[in-house]
Amino acid sequence: SPGQHAAPATPVRAARGSTLHTRGWPQEAALRMLHNNLDPEVAERPEDLVVYGGTGRAARDWSSFAAIDRCLRSLGHDETLLVQSGRPVGVLRTHEWAPRVLIANANLVPDWANWEEFRRLEHLGLTMYGQMTAGSWIYIGTQGILQGTYETFSAVAEQRFGGSLAGTITLTAGLGGMGGAQPLAVTLNGGVAIVIECDPKRIERRLSHGYLDVRAESMAEALRLATRARDARQPLSIGLLGNAADVLPELARSAAPIDIVTDQTSAHDPLAYLPSGVDVADWPEYARTAPEECARRARASMAAHVAAMVQFADAGSEVFDYGNSIRGEAHGAGCSRAFDIPGFVPAYIRPLFCQGKGPFRWAALSGDPADIAATDRALLDLLGDNEGLSRWIRMAGERVSFQGLPARICWLGQGERAAAGNRFNEMVASGELAAPLAIGRDHLDTGSVASPHRETEAMADGSDAIADWPLLNALVNTASGATWVSVHHGGGVGMGRSIHAGQVSVADGTDLAATKLERVLTNDPGTGVLRHVDAGYPLAHTTARQHGLTVPIPPE
Ligand code: NAD
Repeated sequence: SPGQHAAPATPVRAARGSTLHTRGWPQEAALRMLHNNLDPEVAERPEDLVVYGGTGRAARDWSSFAAIDRCLRSLGHDETLLVQSGRPVGVLRTHEWAPRVLIANANLVPDWANWEEFRRLEHLGLTMYGQMTAGSWIYIGTQGILQGTYETFSAVAEQRFGGSLAGTITLTAGLGGMGGAQPLAVTLNGGVAIVIECDPKRIERRLSHGYLDVRAESMAEALRLATRARDARQPLSIGLLGNAADVLPELARSAAPIDIVTDQTSAHDPLAYLPSGVDVADWPEYARTAPEECARRARASMAAHVAAMVQFADAGSEVFDYGNSIRGEAHGAGCSRAFDIPGFVPAYIRPLFCQGKGPFRWAALSGDPADIAATDRALLDLLGDNEGLSRWIRMAGERVSFQGLPARICWLGQGERAAAGNRFNEMVASGELAAPLAIGRDHLDTGSVASPHRETEAMADGSDAIADWPLLNALVNTASGATWVSVHHGGGVGMGRSIHAGQVSVADGTDLAATKLERVLTNDPGTGVLRHVDAGYPLAHTTARQHGLTVPIPPE
């Protein structure tokens, strides 16, 4: 089980520079990105191999980590490493176009796909939770979610507040790996955020990374600071130590002047949500020794938390579930109106998915921030007429501090991803960049996930729970030349609630990489466009037509 073998004496960190420690850049990219996921600057709990999202791990245990490391160092150009839930289980002879690594994490047969069975198997050392980009080695720290969160709050601003969050207060909780992006995403949109967090260390971490502006010592102080900044139309983010299950109901009772409410605690895993009445210092021991009782109390607390969110919605606030399953958990614990709150995908993101847009990201394997600055400039040259994208790239360049290997994320659509990949590969070939790039994405993408409470909530044709699409997506990326491909279960929303796939492809400047990138970065978002055509979205059909995607049975 995790922790069975001790962590290495020195922290794990990706190699920098252009010297290979493997037999080629594809293998080197996998090695560096695995190491990067466990860099203390990147991972939430590297000593336990936990990268983010509750218990999302990069490898099953330290001996598996060491074995993956060894295999990647000797892996040939015609070999493929198989990783089963974070443990290397074989190296097979394949061919040059095949992925160098194939990964399956946390998958369970549907009738067994629940936390109890997963924990039993995890305890036996047979599986691990891979979240989305933890077990697939393309987590890039909080920036990864910052852009998506920024886009979501921009959409909220657009739909409800005249295009800016200036003069509004957002109330949310959770300052973890993903949730830590919320305060900066709100202030980048001009607004004020109060973020409740039960762990003082998480508040400190976000303050020191510049994602959070100040800490309030009490609820009254938080409200005082927030209303003052709101009235001055100044952006400000405030961390408030407390349990969301206590603070939200109290704020709702006192009719606090909150405009927007959401949440990013780790509600998808009841053992990663602090129950009301439990001290944060006693929590790990309590969760370990009395998991069922702890989970039951966490669910009851979530019911109180969501009931307060519903109360805010009734009072006219803009309230949405931010993809952590809190509605499902609360509903199961008796909050009958939990699903009165919409999910963020149908509310704000689906039109982007219809255009093949999703969280494209790349990391500079050189470790040199100048490589990312150069790719930022190249992207502005290439797609500068996209105003939202240019604004993001400029702001990210100024405001985002890198964690681990320098990296960048932006949402790109059908056609744009292939164009960017092609340009980046040319920059590696010409020596404009100091070393190759790893180009990947989150599993939260247009065609790569089935998740009825999140990415596929309220599909036009009711196909929310159809999980063929992420499997086709992984097969397509494998057939198209991706460098590593992954299929996971339960990421983001928990066991039984999602199936999702990922790909990472290396731009090493070779002609072969150019051809593979063109295929992968066309076909990967292409499966998303086709998935949305099939579900009956006219915008997806328009996108398919514009980009020459063949639709065998066109909509009537
Ligand atoms: P994390 O485990 O790193 O952080 C969760 C934070 O919540 C921790 O800091 C924890 O101390 C805090 N917390 C737990 N219970 C609390 C309580 N009762 N009151 C106050 N604070 C509490 O997780 P993360 O990576 O930040 O992810 C958060 C959630 O968002 C997860 O459920 C994840 O699956 C989901 N998620 C959403 C998206 C999206 O795009 N919307 C993407 C990825 C993940």
